[in-house]
Amino acid sequence: MNKWEVNVRRVVPYTPGEQPEDKDIIKLNTNENPYPPAPAVREILDKFDISDMRLYPNPDSEILVKAIAERYKIKPEQIFVGVGSDDVISMAFMTFFNSDKPILFPDVTYSFYDVWADVYRIPYKTCPLREDFTINPEDYKVENGGIIFPNPNAPTGVLESVDMIEDIIKSNPDSVVMIDEAYIDFGGESCLPLIEKYDNLLVIQTFSKSRSMAGMRIGFAIGSEKLIKYMNDVKFSVNSYTMNTITQICGAEAVRDEKYFRETTDKIIATREYSKKKLKKLGFEFPDSKSNFIFASHKEKNAGYIFEELRKRKIFVRYWNKPRIDNYMRITVGTVDEMEALFRALEEIVNE
Ligand SMILES: *Cc1c(COP(=O)(O)O)cnc(C)c1O
Repeated sequence: MNKWEVNVRRVVPYTPGEQPEDKDIIKLNTNENPYPPAPAVREILDKFDISDMRLYPNPDSEILVKAIAERYKIKPEQIFVGVGSDDVISMAFMTFFNSDKPILFPDVTYSFYDVWADVYRIPYKTCPLREDFTINPEDYKVENGGIIFPNPNAPTGVLESVDMIEDIIKSNPDSVVMIDEAYIDFGGESCLPLIEKYDNLLVIQTFSKSRSMAGMRIGFAIGSEKLIKYMNDVKFSVNSYTMNTITQICGAEAVRDEKYFRETTDKIIATREYSKKKLKKLGFEFPDSKSNFIFASHKEKNAGYIFEELRKRKIFVRYWNKPRIDNYMRITVGTVDEMEALFRALEEIVNE
């Protein structure tokens, strides 16, 4: 080992899902939206004057912030935008989780939380989900340096009630509580109305799933003006120009097209409900999902085996060889055609 390596910030990075080049692959592994972004995004790109690339982008992403503020009927000062919600959550960890007490999140959850905690040297403690993958609110009524969990949770798809979450927030006036609502638009009830009551609540959402724009990298947080100000102070101390100009304008157009948003999210919800019935018939069990994925386990066949067999048939789903979830696969809800291809393959695999 070189001497300089003693001073390296060593981390075990997050492992993203595979992004294969092969277009024939049916990709149900990273919870992307199977439908294209709102049609107005096409027009924006056709009209864009490349000479504008000479200029730095607006550091406050004003156009996008304004569009989000109008859509959610809140003040622009209550919105922080970032390059995907991963960027937003990372900034939020850096800004708010600076206690010696551990931050709390579920044992089965988004696998980026422990990575950010490690990279920023934040102590953390995981709270085991109940057997049915629901959260026990009592676990979050202990001394802590902050709280974060997704609602619906990932990779389980389980939705918690706003009442239960409010109970947790109420019990934690001394910590910042973050609710990661990456999948809330697929039938869940958002905690957004609670931000008017609790100035320590941060609600985080993304354009990656329900607005079909994972490749553009747009995420945002909504909270009290005070929280947002603190986050912007940190952001402007790291990198002022995070979000590029094209992304800002495309994001603003996308958020204005409410009709298209409803149509596509409704289609995904309908396909999810249909898929639940099909999977049950094939012998799968799963917690009820309110997201754009289903976390399924088969009664007889091992999940790791099914995952590999699907892969051979060019169908990608997500599998983690981790405690408690090593017999589950997470299946993103695609188009009806994609799901039919999946069911045909599963029928072969489970009945062979
Ligand atoms: C997908 C996802 C995110 C991050 O999405 P971005 O593409 O970075 O906006 C954050 N949290 C959860 C739980 C997710 O599943």
